[in-house]
Amino acid sequence: MTQTVLACTRVEDMPIPNVLSEIELCVECRKRVWVAASSPRKAVRLCLQCAAPLIASTPDVRPMMTTEQAADIAAYYRARKKA
Ligand SMILES: [Zn+2]
Repeated sequence: MTQTVLACTRVEDMPIPNVLSEIELCVECRKRVWVAASSPRKAVRLCLQCAAPLIASTPDVRPMMTTEQAADIAAYYRARKKA
């Protein structure tokens, strides 16, 4: 089964979204995340922190994200490697 995952920035990490967004909850950690108003309604909402390991470990999860979010995930991995 292919699941579309929307990787969203947590509200606590970005107080003001850069696109028209609404606040929803990450299905994993229940933190508040920004979801762009134009996002597909069926996609699973995850924060970047929860989405990164899932995307890495589950090949049939197709992340939908902006290039900015992809850069955030890349930075997240770099930070984890250093830790
Ligand atoms: Zn989360």
